[in-house]
Amino acid sequence: MSSKPGPLVLLVEDEPQVRRLLRTSLPPHGYRVLEAESGEQAVRLAGQYAPDLVLLDLGLPDMDGLEVTRRLRVWSRVPILVLSARGQENQKVEALDAGADDYLTKPFSFPELLARMRVALRHAVRSEDAGAESVFRNGPLLVDPERRRVLLDGEEVHLTPIEYKLLSVLVRHAGKVVTHRQLLEAVWGPRSGEQNQYLRVYMAHLRRKLEPDLSRSRLFATEAGVGYRMRLPEE
Ligand code: CA
Repeated sequence: MSSKPGPLVLLVEDEPQVRRLLRTSLPPHGYRVLEAESGEQAVRLAGQYAPDLVLLDLGLPDMDGLEVTRRLRVWSRVPILVLSARGQENQKVEALDAGADDYLTKPFSFPELLARMRVALRHAVRSEDAGAESVFRNGPLLVDPERRRVLLDGEEVHLTPIEYKLLSVLVRHAGKVVTHRQLLEAVWGPRSGEQNQYLRVYMAHLRRKLEPDLSRSRLFATEAGVGYRMRLPEE
């Protein structure tokens, strides 16, 4: 028995089978599970229990997951992992833009869910004590934000200011998807929302510089129709 209680997960899902599955399979991995079957109930329970993580189904009987995300984000920075069905692509992207942290498309594998939950929780801890920016390492890549230096296998890589900004945003959210809109706004400013072609061009530049050997592990994943993700080394 461990003395410290595990992270509290608020599971928002109207399908009883999915709830039953997660209610039994998450506790052996150290999670405590709180269940809501509607958006209204989810918002209320989140206020009462301040969960460490929210697993949020997008299709709920009373309001959609996007609305739940918006309501939670008014006062809470709790990590939100969206569970979406095929055909909910637009809603999924909107939920991410509204502040959800990541998504999984149903049906997903349980190990994948666990991995995403770990990333979301770790990221929450990191952003809480993100005082001084620290050096980031990921496989062959090293980013030193204080000196604005980027090394690949110990060799300095020269990035343009825009490439560097783009990389920093992906590094800050490493392991999680960052939407096209979020990247555009972070790099080019608030009114750049629809300029996806800039993003494609600069991502191609970044990849050419940081993924020269494509037979080796890739740093960036393209999430079709959604955005980009910096991969983390295998856990
Ligand atoms: Ca549903």
